[in-house]
Amino acid sequence: MRKHNKIICNQCKKELKFEKGYLKEGCFSVDYAFGYFSQKDGARQRFDLCEECYDKMVAQFQIPVEVVRDKELL
Ligand SMILES: [Zn+2]
Repeated sequence: MRKHNKIICNQCKKELKFEKGYLKEGCFSVDYAFGYFSQKDGARQRFDLCEECYDKMVAQFQIPVEVVRDKELL
């Protein structure tokens, strides 16, 4: 959740660390517009997760997250 230059993890309510205006830890930010044919009919959904809560979420996946290093994208 983003409010007044703060990011708070939606899952655990931890406030993420900022220093001099820069985010100093991992944050998984979602801002997703579900399409017309979804059950949500175009509504945007937004949330932020701290890295720990992100790890807990993806640990539940049946297929592990694919990891691609930035340099492999070049
Ligand atoms: Zn969290």
